[in-house]
Amino acid sequence: MHEIEPVPATSSRPSAAADARPSEATGAPRPLAATRAAPGASNTEVWRLVQNAVRARVAPEQFATWFRRATLDHVDEARVRLAVQNQFTREWIQSYYTRVIEEAIVEVLGSSRALEFVVNSELVLFNPVATPSPSDAQNQPAQTARPDPRTASNGNAAHDPALVSDVGLNPKYTFDNFVVGPCNRFAHAAAVGAAEQPGHAYNPFFLHGSVGLGKTHLLQSLCFALLQRNPKTRILYLSCETFVNHFISALENGDLQKFRNKYRNVDVLVVDDIHVLANKERTQEEFFHTFNTLYQAGKQIVLSSDSPPKEIPTLQERLVSRFRWGLVTEIEPPCYETRMAILKRKSREKGREIPDEVARLLAERIDSNIRELEGAVTKLIGYSNLTGANITAELARDVLRDLFAVRRGAPSLDDIVTVVTERFGVKLSELQSRKRTNAVAFPRQISMYIARQITRHSLEEIGGFFGGRDHSTVLYAVEKVGEVMESDPDVHEMVTGFLGQLQGPSI
Ligand code: ADP
Ligand code: MG
Repeated sequence: MHEIEPVPATSSRPSAAADARPSEATGAPRPLAATRAAPGASNTEVWRLVQNAVRARVAPEQFATWFRRATLDHVDEARVRLAVQNQFTREWIQSYYTRVIEEAIVEVLGSSRALEFVVNSELVLFNPVATPSPSDAQNQPAQTARPDPRTASNGNAAHDPALVSDVGLNPKYTFDNFVVGPCNRFAHAAAVGAAEQPGHAYNPFFLHGSVGLGKTHLLQSLCFALLQRNPKTRILYLSCETFVNHFISALENGDLQKFRNKYRNVDVLVVDDIHVLANKERTQEEFFHTFNTLYQAGKQIVLSSDSPPKEIPTLQERLVSRFRWGLVTEIEPPCYETRMAILKRKSREKGREIPDEVARLLAERIDSNIRELEGAVTKLIGYSNLTGANITAELARDVLRDLFAVRRGAPSLDDIVTVVTERFGVKLSELQSRKRTNAVAFPRQISMYIARQITRHSLEEIGGFFGGRDHSTVLYAVEKVGEVMESDPDVHEMVTGFLGQLQGPSI
């Protein structure tokens, strides 16, 4: 999802006046002689000339923000297609710089072409980190900058899109949107501290905890807070996987120097999921040097991981010890009250209120993963919006059946067979045999029905387990047991009893 992201050279937007009419606003002189591309010039050469022509028409920080990472994707007699790093940049350039680019094209190619854009997110990754020029300092974003409708509409602490687009952050991941409870209070405070005093408070800042507990959310909030305080901060936020992939491709392409410049020339390096370094010796080596260079220069390093440093398999001892130089803190699973608060917050974010009874139900059942909690809210509200059904405990039980089943340690087919065979006094081998007498077929069908309800196995997989039967046999069993349950209260009671036994107390 949010993968790597880069360092905005100048993440500032141009001032409102400059936005509207970039060339006039800057008053940049027009070049007297056009710099025409030679016939047959390569795309790279054409783009270099077009860039120069654009550069002559816009202020340096505008150029750095909008054009430095762009490339020429295609040119022919009719069209010029530019590749830009993201949708936001594309919209911005189209709105404000089309004329400038068209003029530059005429200057370089001698005639006008239709201007097209394509988004290539790789550009974010591979183009060099731009170093702020002294002129950037005088070009802080104007307070009067045109409000962006996407942020103006909700009026809360959403990110400035100019920042979002360049650093690739999820606008929802802010400190404001983070619910603080006993499980994450310390991690939250540390992240806020690191954002306030990068390089000083805690360096490195190492955050660990299991999946879905808010590590990425905190890391991105930290980046956002840093950019809010100082939009010129050069932040490199990326997943460790991106670091690994980038390193491998740098090795393959002999681009190691460029790679190193990129990673060692930042103010803040934030690497999400650093445990991915496990078993990757060469990347560990490289990261070690990256770490040292940044650390010695007093730059902030922020890392997240699914386990503490010493538990990351095969992590070199010298990295383990460095990761512990600063602050190592754990984010723990949320307690009940925090889960309730998160549920309330997430539903409000989606424009709905979840009744207390339903929130309690969810908070009781989903206790170890905030992503799942959020998923449950999304699903429930989505379903209710779609069908108009009220959000009730009953609806939650129905709509979220799968999720609840998985959460309860996902009983296996073996678990199911154990309870069923015990009750009926049959053997597993019989359930898996070709026998079709009622004494065997019925418990087999019940087992299939239960497997369908509380495991994620497909019809085929279930059929395979019960003696290589095909999916239609399983489907038939599921339907038949469902019908019998409706007509026969004893069977209903027995099957719900099995379900309860396998899943814990029924909801
Ligand atoms: P991790 O990186 O630890 O696997 P994430 O940061 O991706 O987890 O969090 C998973 C989801 O849960 C995200 O949508 C995030 O916004 C949400 N979340 C986690 N912790 C909190 C919290 N304390 N308050 C609000 N939302 C949270
Ligand atoms: Mg994460």
